[in-house]
Amino acid sequence: MRKLINKLYKENYIDEIELLELLYNLNENDATYLIEKAHETMLKTYGNRVFMRGLIEFTNYCKRNCVYCGIRAANKKADRYRLSIDEILEVCKEGDRLGYKTFVLQGGEDEFYTDDKIVEIITEIKRKFPYSAVTLSIGEKSYDSYKKFYDAGADRYLLRHETASKELYEKLHPNASFENRIQCLWNLKEIGYQVGAGFMVGLPGQSNETFVKDFMFLKELEPEMVGIGPFIPHKDTPLADKERGTTYNTIIMLALTRLFLPYVLLPATTALGTIDPLGREKGLKAGANVVMPNLSPVSVREKYSLYDGKICTGDESAQCRKCIENRINKAGFVLDLSRGDNLNWKRK
Ligand code: SAH
Repeated sequence: MRKLINKLYKENYIDEIELLELLYNLNENDATYLIEKAHETMLKTYGNRVFMRGLIEFTNYCKRNCVYCGIRAANKKADRYRLSIDEILEVCKEGDRLGYKTFVLQGGEDEFYTDDKIVEIITEIKRKFPYSAVTLSIGEKSYDSYKKFYDAGADRYLLRHETASKELYEKLHPNASFENRIQCLWNLKEIGYQVGAGFMVGLPGQSNETFVKDFMFLKELEPEMVGIGPFIPHKDTPLADKERGTTYNTIIMLALTRLFLPYVLLPATTALGTIDPLGREKGLKAGANVVMPNLSPVSVREKYSLYDGKICTGDESAQCRKCIENRINKAGFVLDLSRGDNLNWKRK
């Protein structure tokens, strides 16, 4: 196993057969070594800096029915909300005051926000905070829509591929097309965004074979960012009774991602912090280098419920910047308050 890990560390690549062997045979000692190598890789690329993004969950209306997700259209129990442009700008103002230089606008696929409205939101944020990056995470749109948003000033786009197994993807996403999701990612790349793909860990039906597909796809796409978090069941979804993903497996996937894509911006996700009080610290030590605290108004936070038990007070609240900073420092990292673009990216 060490040999394979060393090869991955040196070449940032091992093939499908080697990766499958590694996933099947990794024992705890190997895992510790893998995590060390991922950490070393991160020190060589970005150093021990952790970047911060302010997450704004601006709508929980969604037309899709992803079986794992608490805000799926069929969940009649979800208490739906939308933020107005003024409310979003107010949140950005608070974020700006706290030192955030990236605003991540995330939401369900909500047609209330037409392309023109999204363009207006991006334009206004950029006018008021020109030194800040705008990241969108609003699902699958046409090439033309993505292009309009980019031309309005959006810098980054998060669209997890969720799983690179077509078969599993189609089981989890009724009436959705795997090919379209993947095409969206290629379109975003072509337009010039910093692109974030990624997947959940511990989904029912996932296996070492499907993880191999995830890494081969990531290596081909070369996204600037990758989002990885444990699957956490939500009580009002068809997957309510399934097991959640584990911290251990999630951390292995983070470490592998850092080794395959040394320059990736990799968040220690909220979901990881939800299943394990030290989850985010463990993620950072395994190669993650981004934290994405919640900036959404406290009044709507509980409603943006993708999974159960999502933490939304204390450390998770972006307002509590100091304690986040303390935790990052205690784990051996320093908070970097710059925009934190991928080092290999330049706006087209
Ligand atoms: N509508 C946007 C944003 C989705 S929400 C889109 O389609 O991209 C952001 C991410 O939350 C999803 O990509 C998914 O990976 C994750 N997520 C959703 N439900 C989850 C659950 N039950 N457990 C863990 N993560 C979940």
